[in-house]
Amino acid sequence: MRVSLLLLVFLVQSCVLSKGAAAEPQRPNFVVIFCDDLGYGDLACFGHPTIATPNLDRMAAEGMKFTQFYAAAPVCTPSRAALMTGRLPLRNGMCSNKRRVLFPDSKGGIPAEEITIAEALQANGYATACVGKWHLGHLPQYLPTSNGFDFYFGIPYSNDMDRVNDAPKGRAPFWDPKTEYWNVPLMRNSKIIERPADQTTITRRYTEEATKFIRDNKDSPFFLYLPHSMPHVPLFRSPEFEGKSRRGLFGDVIEEVDWSVGQVLDTLRQLELDDNTLVFFTSDNGPWLIFDEQGGSAGLLRDGKGSTWEGGMREPTLAWWPGQVKPGSISRDVGSTMDIFATLHALAGVDLPTDRVLDSHDLTPVLRGAGASSREALFYYRGYQLMAVRKGPWKMHLMTQDAYGPASREAKKHGPPLLFNLEHDPGEQTDIAAKHSDVVESLQAKVSMHLGALVSAESQLESR
Ligand code: MG
Repeated sequence: MRVSLLLLVFLVQSCVLSKGAAAEPQRPNFVVIFCDDLGYGDLACFGHPTIATPNLDRMAAEGMKFTQFYAAAPVCTPSRAALMTGRLPLRNGMCSNKRRVLFPDSKGGIPAEEITIAEALQANGYATACVGKWHLGHLPQYLPTSNGFDFYFGIPYSNDMDRVNDAPKGRAPFWDPKTEYWNVPLMRNSKIIERPADQTTITRRYTEEATKFIRDNKDSPFFLYLPHSMPHVPLFRSPEFEGKSRRGLFGDVIEEVDWSVGQVLDTLRQLELDDNTLVFFTSDNGPWLIFDEQGGSAGLLRDGKGSTWEGGMREPTLAWWPGQVKPGSISRDVGSTMDIFATLHALAGVDLPTDRVLDSHDLTPVLRGAGASSREALFYYRGYQLMAVRKGPWKMHLMTQDAYGPASREAKKHGPPLLFNLEHDPGEQTDIAAKHSDVVESLQAKVSMHLGALVSAESQLESR
């Protein structure tokens, strides 16, 4: 009896000692999978009736689904800059009223003084990679490898740029694959390795590079940013996905992206990194509706890419982290791609920069089911123009402009503003401003405060 008691004491002691002596738990890895022009209604787990997304559905079942999560702009470049910096596009220098996105002849890119998530994590010992569409400048000083990423593989801007044999003006914007093509480069780090990039295999090759990066860095904390070129038009998919989806070409493309998500999550599972890796899945802006069947769907939301109606900016979003994020959970609170910046800082134990205004709110309490984020309001911009504000269920439009399309799409100023209760009316069908003048008044006060605080940021921007 005495011997067994001593043995028990010894076992307990050695257990405590070995626990105490163990290395610090490794900091979590991060993967951000970012689609291009994916609509709120384009995934099965967000209600699409015929597109099959079993891997994303499983990701949702094992993780958290965000039903009110927003991109920071309704178009590529500013949206991506905001994700990278946790700041509104008009603060980070990547927004313009003239050309809303960067083009192959653009000379600019993300300003050197901006801090990207990748820079913050790289400086704190993370291995970092960007695989996919960058679109924050393609000259050497603006490439991912100059902005915190150890490795880059991808098409540096939109896959419809550098078009050869451009369609005559006035013609419907559909492609003739017999005569037209996109001479877009495919880059590895800062070198062009293929031109035109063979886009029929682009999703597959992004996936191979992404999973290789995970395998190569399984022993160090890593940050993988995987911004797919798809489903931005022109649509391409690998031969294995041709004709597979009941939704046609667009469905084939989404189903290949879904396969890609499955590959990434399976790699994490196989390497037993799943309980130490947070994966986000979302998109840069809503569906490009002008392309009819080749564009996606915002589901029950109004309008699409280019617009600050909900369909332009609300995105189907998932977070996955087995053991940390409760399976099958749903967050119906407002979140933004800008929040990923503060969230990854918090989880990596990296202090946020204090020398600049951030628009990023830590989502850690939301992910852990322990509370709400500190975000109080969401501002909808188009270029430098503040178009709308959301606080709680209320959204007030100061101005509206329809999605990119052939029809007249002049911005309309609303005086008095339009007001919608998004929780009752997510499709923004019934303006209830007249019934809720108190709400309009309080949102107008919020707008005045926000615009007042921006003055210094704008002058900072002009000095660049
Ligand atoms: Mg886009």
